[in-house]
Amino acid sequence: MNDLAELTARMRTFTEERDWRRFHDLKSLTLALTGEVGEVAELVQWLPASAAEGDIDARLRERLGDELADVLLYLVRLADVVGVDLGAEATKKLATNESRFPVDGHRGVAPDRR
Ligand SMILES: [Mg+2]
Repeated sequence: MNDLAELTARMRTFTEERDWRRFHDLKSLTLALTGEVGEVAELVQWLPASAAEGDIDARLRERLGDELADVLLYLVRLADVVGVDLGAEATKKLATNESRFPVDGHRGVAPDRR
């Protein structure tokens, strides 16, 4: 199950079944999402900057998967609560970035703030 719409529906059901809707306001979900991003950062904070995928052992990969799932689920829930179609917005944003950073002139060059 990887479809955003299905995740959104399941998160909505999960919330409603537990009568947690009243806790899922914009501020609380934003802070929860931020906290989960912090948990991802905590897992990698002391890895050497040169660490690559090959340096991630099975245990760390499992923990990263768990925390990244938390991030995605809170993100999906937040988007639902504020009425944002996350898939459509992400698609639109990617198209904007493809235009903003054409391959010619940007290949292998880190984006700057121009
Ligand atoms: Mg977590």
